[in-house]
Amino acid sequence: MSQKITKKQLNNWLEDVKPLVNQGKIASYIPALERQDPNDLAVSISYVNGDTVSCGVTKKTFTLQSVSKVISLALALMDHGEEYVFSKVGMEPTGDPFYSIAKLETSNPSKPLNPMINAGALAVTDMIKGKDVSERVERLLNFFRNLTGDSSIHYNTEVATSEFDTAFLNRSLSYFMKQTNIIKGDVEELLEVYCKQCAIEVTIEQLSTLGAVLANNGKEPRTGRELIPEHFARICKTFMVTCGMYDASGSFAIEVGIPAKSGVSGAILGSVKGFGGIGVYGPNLNEKGNSVVGLKLLKRISDQTQLSIF
Ligand code: GLU
Repeated sequence: MSQKITKKQLNNWLEDVKPLVNQGKIASYIPALERQDPNDLAVSISYVNGDTVSCGVTKKTFTLQSVSKVISLALALMDHGEEYVFSKVGMEPTGDPFYSIAKLETSNPSKPLNPMINAGALAVTDMIKGKDVSERVERLLNFFRNLTGDSSIHYNTEVATSEFDTAFLNRSLSYFMKQTNIIKGDVEELLEVYCKQCAIEVTIEQLSTLGAVLANNGKEPRTGRELIPEHFARICKTFMVTCGMYDASGSFAIEVGIPAKSGVSGAILGSVKGFGGIGVYGPNLNEKGNSVVGLKLLKRISDQTQLSIF
């Protein structure tokens, strides 16, 4: 396993990829995301012993978007256990874009193929326990607060509202799954919880801390306190490998080899068992929805430190 990366090394790698920040495009289907600064670039590594090294725009916060799906899956597993969760959502990659509706109708049994695509993530968020929307959102927020050790974690209201108002596709997926009995609760309430979950804001260091907990088998790095049962942390990391980088998960596994989950905000969460968590952020995305500079940085980190798990 690789040794620790110094701040100087990390900064050099960040400077190397900086000329690429203008390649790609910011996600615009959620209107508020367009306000992100395309020049932003940040990277952080949190080791399983709790040490952290970060460079770039380290003070800025950004929304997690699909990165949150890994963590909501962990909470749903803790709320209901494996058997129930996987009776509603599958374990297989799709090869389709994250928003695709196609396989919901063609696959049999009619359940979303995995928890990392939108249909599957919506089904997972539907399972988060709580008596109403605010209790469910509060439980999600508290889970993120525990994992990052920061009680001020919250969602960005503007991004959540912007997504809720324009979530036509996610509404369609959810109403379809309501019909097929995958979604149990009220669809509008589900969308409110889901959009707030996706709009949860973190700094780059908090992003890498999430990865460090997973890398530490679900335990808090400094204290060793269990935050996620080890088996569930393993399930989350496995989905990151097979489905975390949209329909580019296969090539990413070959080229980089780090379990990772990408979000349309330009955030990518990496986690390497026994090593730590890696967070990268750069809002311009390639055609698959992955941060262009984020991919380059992760490849650089993986190459230079032999971090590929394969
Ligand atoms: N909130 C976004 C959506 O559901 C997340 C998508 C993503 O980051 O992949 O469309």
